[in-house]
Amino acid sequence: MAVESGEDCCVKVAVHVRPLIGDERQQGCKDCVTVVPGKPQVQIGTHSFTFDHVYGSTGTPSSAIFDECVAPLVDGLFQGYNATVLAYGQTGSGKTYTMGTACKDGSQTGLIPQVMNSLFSKIEALKNQAEFQLRVSFIEILKEEVRDLLDSSSVSKIEAVNGHSGKLTMPGKALVQIREASNGAITLAGSTEIFVSTQKEMAACLEQGSLIRATGSTNMNNQSSRSHAIFTITLEQMCKIGPNVPAEGTLMEDMNHEYLSAKLHLVDLAGSERAKRTGSDGLRFKEGVHINRGLLALGNVISALGDEKKRKEGAHVPYRDSKLTRLLQDSLGGNSRTVMIACTSPADVNTEETLNTLKYANRAR
Ligand code: ADP
Ligand code: MG
Repeated sequence: MAVESGEDCCVKVAVHVRPLIGDERQQGCKDCVTVVPGKPQVQIGTHSFTFDHVYGSTGTPSSAIFDECVAPLVDGLFQGYNATVLAYGQTGSGKTYTMGTACKDGSQTGLIPQVMNSLFSKIEALKNQAEFQLRVSFIEILKEEVRDLLDSSSVSKIEAVNGHSGKLTMPGKALVQIREASNGAITLAGSTEIFVSTQKEMAACLEQGSLIRATGSTNMNNQSSRSHAIFTITLEQMCKIGPNVPAEGTLMEDMNHEYLSAKLHLVDLAGSERAKRTGSDGLRFKEGVHINRGLLALGNVISALGDEKKRKEGAHVPYRDSKLTRLLQDSLGGNSRTVMIACTSPADVNTEETLNTLKYANRAR
């Protein structure tokens, strides 16, 4: 029986307001974002927005975002549903912190480490019923080009780049091509996929890719990245018990009844601030324009998916407008589950960008 797109297939939107950080305190910034207690509501100035979930700077245990927003997506993987988690927001708003993409100091607070914990404990619990295979890829999109962050030759290149003037910000090998199969499945030609059997191996992939991820300094935050980073976990499973005992050498995907495959994309989006605010050279501006193209297309896709009326009429969803949406095409909409986490700073100096972020997120609902 075909699975119907249920009511809960649409996009869930959460807001994560981080606390004031050192720099902001030193500048004497005021906290201008109010989270309404007990409600998924956030206020800034005279504006008020309601989302599926709102996490404030105080009183939110770090596991709450995972438990409420992401754990259901991990569960869905075991039922064959693709999923996407997106962190959106201006540079410095907490996207990387929230996702746990940087994964330094073995921190377990980010979402990706919590996804790993949960995946491996589920697999452990289910190991008598099914056989599991996990693989990961880690790519980034910069200037509408897709690059492999797990290419082993990049590791030596990164050292070469560090010894350089800092102009070469893009190690990583040949560009990755996005392909669409006749069944609509999106694959990446030319990107490294690493089979992992332990949590440690998976964490090592995250760490390696994070190191290679291109960063460039802007006057907002010199650690920030202008690229979208996408860490993808693919879970394949084959039930051990079933009517057809597979013949030896049968490929996992050839056993229809017992085979399930699903992927989870964990996306640390590029900074959403306007290109003009980076105020740097022509090259940066161009990158800004391209980044905005991905974010613009994403906003349009999510908004089209969230509009139930349009969806029922089979309205066009503009996946093809950017590499980002093209790559996520089979994991956004349809039977897949999507959570967008809009990250914001609470500081008054960021009011304008915070409002932009909340408006973008609001449009996604
Ligand atoms: P982005 O990836 O959006 O540019 P980061 O995740 O790098 O932003 O966060 C910017 C700074 O704020 C970092 O120093 C980070 O440690 C800090 N930070 C972000 N979110 C939180 C949080 N929820 N609690 C404490 N510090 C945070
Ligand atoms: Mg970041």
